[in-house]
Amino acid sequence: MTAEIRLFPCLADNFGALIHDPATKATAAIDVPEAAPVIAALEREGWTLSDILVTHHHADHTQGIAELKAKYGCRVTAPHDKLTPIADADVRVREGDTVKVGNLVARVLETPGHTLEHISYMFDKEHALFCADTLFSIGCGRVIEGTPSQMWASLVKLRALPDDTRVYCGHEYTLANIKFALTIEPDNAALKARAVEAARQRAEGKPTVPTLLGEEKKANVFLRADVPEVAAAVGLAGKSAAEVFTEVRERKNKF
Ligand SMILES: [Zn+2]
Repeated sequence: MTAEIRLFPCLADNFGALIHDPATKATAAIDVPEAAPVIAALEREGWTLSDILVTHHHADHTQGIAELKAKYGCRVTAPHDKLTPIADADVRVREGDTVKVGNLVARVLETPGHTLEHISYMFDKEHALFCADTLFSIGCGRVIEGTPSQMWASLVKLRALPDDTRVYCGHEYTLANIKFALTIEPDNAALKARAVEAARQRAEGKPTVPTLLGEEKKANVFLRADVPEVAAAVGLAGKSAAEVFTEVRERKNKF
């Protein structure tokens, strides 16, 4: 029996996500922007929450923890605290640790930059990556606590995962990200194709997530800071990938 994954909107533009193991009935929520939509999704499926896997401390990823823990008595897995503590955690994990959700296994990848403690969860067997606010479709998170070099290293780490990895990110930001990316790579065929696809998905009221990592590698400018054409496009031909990434991120901040 294969794992089942459900994605649903929370707050203004966050995603809630559930991963369910049919063999053991274990179900994990990856981040909980608010409790109500998580409870509604569980009740739609007839699932019970056994785990919450937290990626980072921001309120729009953790606000539902206390209520859901009180309701389901679920186990809360979170990264080790850095600048801001994450309350109600039962288990603290770091790079190389694994987390079990029933028989499903997630590998913990430290992906700092957006926040210092940010981690991503990779379910290798399911080809599913939950990367919250590190990697978005055609974008990446703002560098709030870490440095741009740190963020670039985190993105390179995620980029090394297999092309058939389904990327579940924390926000529906794809259309705005595409608009920006086209200012840097107006002739990128994969990006232009993604623009058409994402516009159609949104027009149909569907999420643009998950996306395939192989497609992101071709179309997401933030994963392409070491591509000579991208360096040239921002006037940094021959410069390091970290410098190019920093410039692209700066431009996005001002966009
Ligand atoms: Zn965040």
